[in-house]
Amino acid sequence: MDRRQLLDAFRNLDRRQFLDKMCQDLAGLDEPLPIGHGQPLSQPTLVLEMTALLDPEPGSRVLEIGTGSGYQTALLAPFSQMVCTVERIPELARQAEERLVRLGYANVRFRTGNGGTGWPEEAPFDRIIVTAAAGTVPPPLVGQLASPGRMVIPVGPRGWQNLLLITKDAAGKLAERVIEKVAFVELVGAYGWHQAKDNS
Ligand code: SAH
Repeated sequence: MDRRQLLDAFRNLDRRQFLDKMCQDLAGLDEPLPIGHGQPLSQPTLVLEMTALLDPEPGSRVLEIGTGSGYQTALLAPFSQMVCTVERIPELARQAEERLVRLGYANVRFRTGNGGTGWPEEAPFDRIIVTAAAGTVPPPLVGQLASPGRMVIPVGPRGWQNLLLITKDAAGKLAERVIEKVAFVELVGAYGWHQAKDNS
């Protein structure tokens, strides 16, 4: 993706539109902020960094796990052919869909449910981004990643996790790179923290 265009899109994306009235005054801070139901919206620079790492292309079919407010979705959509996004909390999923439709995003598909199992009907995906922390990389997501493909996912125990960039080459061979330590909420379900090795 073109980094200059990404930076422009990032600067033009108003985080206030993704926050409750109560938090809108804080939108300009580079800090995580609450979006309800005990869930946070990450600091903007991390959302930007994860988008750049994912590096979608105009033809990319993207799977996002953890829709939350839809802010990350809104940064991905203009650089992708289609974003399929999954959120487990129905009220957040509903609000994000309503918001993104109102803002005019036409290439996003929404699903409420456990994203750990991906979205088999829409697979394979050229890009997969997970914005909640897994204990282990969910095998269904690896299976639904195209060859070649890229996945960005935080993996590790409660507290701090490793942000991983997983790449699959054209022959289907996987490689993994640790980018940095991050702190996300848990990816609830089968691939959550009860499976995490303590790697802190
Ligand atoms: N990217 C979001 C913030 C993500 S916070 C944004 O831009 O606002 C993490 C989100 O992952 C929360 O909304 C949480 O409900 C969701 N989540 C946690 N476990 C999940 C699962 N198994 N499947 C789908 N969504 C999940």
